[in-house]
Amino acid sequence: MKLHGIAASDGVAIGKVFLFEKTEVEINKDKITAEQVDTEITKISDAINSYVEELQNRETTSEAAQEVTAAHIELASDPALIDSTSDKIKNQLINVELALESTIDEMVMVFEMMDDAYLKERAADYRDIGQNIMYKLKGIVPKTLSSLDDDYIVISDELTPTDTSTMDKDHVLGFAMNLGGKTSHSSIIAQTLGIPAVVGMKDITENVENGEFIILDAIEGVIIKNPDEATVKAYEEKFEIMKRTKELTEKYKFEDAVTKDGKDIEVVCNIGGISDLVSGLEEGAEGVGLFRTEFLYMESNDFPEEEKQFSVYKEAAEKLEGKPLIIRTLDIGGDKGLNYFEFPKEENPFLGWRALRVQFDKTDILRTQLRAILRASTFGNVKILLPMIISVNEIKKIQELLEVYKEELKLEGIEYDENIEVGIMIETPASVFMARDLIKYCDFFSIGTNDLTQYILAVDRGNEKISHLYDYFNPAVLRAIKEVIAASHEAGKWTGMCGSMSSDSLATYLLLGMGLDEFSAVGAKVGTIKSIINNVTLEDAKKFADEVLELDNVEEIRNLLKAKSNEFKL
Ligand code: PEP
Ligand code: MG
Repeated sequence: MKLHGIAASDGVAIGKVFLFEKTEVEINKDKITAEQVDTEITKISDAINSYVEELQNRETTSEAAQEVTAAHIELASDPALIDSTSDKIKNQLINVELALESTIDEMVMVFEMMDDAYLKERAADYRDIGQNIMYKLKGIVPKTLSSLDDDYIVISDELTPTDTSTMDKDHVLGFAMNLGGKTSHSSIIAQTLGIPAVVGMKDITENVENGEFIILDAIEGVIIKNPDEATVKAYEEKFEIMKRTKELTEKYKFEDAVTKDGKDIEVVCNIGGISDLVSGLEEGAEGVGLFRTEFLYMESNDFPEEEKQFSVYKEAAEKLEGKPLIIRTLDIGGDKGLNYFEFPKEENPFLGWRALRVQFDKTDILRTQLRAILRASTFGNVKILLPMIISVNEIKKIQELLEVYKEELKLEGIEYDENIEVGIMIETPASVFMARDLIKYCDFFSIGTNDLTQYILAVDRGNEKISHLYDYFNPAVLRAIKEVIAASHEAGKWTGMCGSMSSDSLATYLLLGMGLDEFSAVGAKVGTIKSIINNVTLEDAKKFADEVLELDNVEEIRNLLKAKSNEFKL
């Protein structure tokens, strides 16, 4: 039997259940007299102090847990907490427990009502803090998961950040809970500890028993009860492969990516903002192959001004310390809108007024962005990437505009990188067929397989009904990729890939063999990609790619790739 939830931290665990029940407290609802007010206020201040002290001395499971603990110290020390509780004691003549409960309820409600998923989850942090201060008031030492007698999958109504920050990570194989979301602090801690977790299971505590043998599949987001022998065996194999991949990822993430016969490959990451960049660097990325600037525009209430954009690009360039930062110009339209700018209703938005097509009509948007990128270019190794290109003229037009903006900056006495490189996305069939011409006017290619696949196959990338047809391993897509890479190499230039295919470890060996020079992946995949590259030769990869490119259907191609991947045990 399968029970479903939300996968919050990748992985698989097989083992017995430990049902973890919270220490319940009964709140004293008594009224107090005016004479008791001061005593009650002293109690709350003592309880908060004692809780903060405990947090300061807490031994945590990880760096992420340490950060959460630091955040909780800040929240608990916030004068608003003690002031609001004290006011309630004074004005309503209620005892300290009731006053604290009501203050925390108010704070929790404010966060729960927020639209932003991340901020919404901060409600759990306030509940956690409130509960712990309550334990202090009552002199209760709560149950914890800090020392378990055996290996368990922990099942609970809600594991608080305190629970996950202090749990016995050597004995917790994974956890699942009724409540929680993907961005809760408990989920984040699980991710950094590499412990599989499924959240939002609603009533999992009602459906499993202490000691029961289960499988926790935190890739699919399910718990399997009463698994048969074949299922257990399949999961044991999956578990071994994941364990090995994880070990290799850790081993290689900060290494250079060089094949055994000496071909140097760049493994960089895709980002949507500074926080992605920070995590990408922590995963070993050697730069940024795609900065999707749309998020900068989507988060604002109006088109972000030059100064605002400049400061973000500059910060990213400086954080990279000379490693490449490839900034893509705004790719709005298609599936991405802006709430302060009305796009006309279109029959085919993906084939419509999108990306540079919008900006060529609204050159003020383009000017603001290109000037901001140019200004940031003196602070690092910045390159420009143009989306949705279909013709030589589009690149020429951008190059002309760049000259104009450079001239403007020169007159204003503002510095920029005179030789800033400009690359284009290869994501339209036109750009594939025109690759040999397009490369004459730019410095590099970056293949966007997400769009390229949908346009080559005429299969909408977001349509569930035909998702089985959407496959970048389709030979038509593979042959296009091969041609594009060859065209850039003939011109003495390079090709990278920033579409999802570059994050897929099943594709790494094949793309390497096809001659890809740069993989721009999601941060978490950087180490895995590097581990594959470091353990093979380019010569063998080329032979393998030739073999794959001979095949005329996607099923056979996938089978061959899977067989190769099993050989690598990756
Ligand atoms: C792509 O199309 O592959 C790509 C990287 O761009 P986006 O997903 O932002 O359209
Ligand atoms: Mg695209």
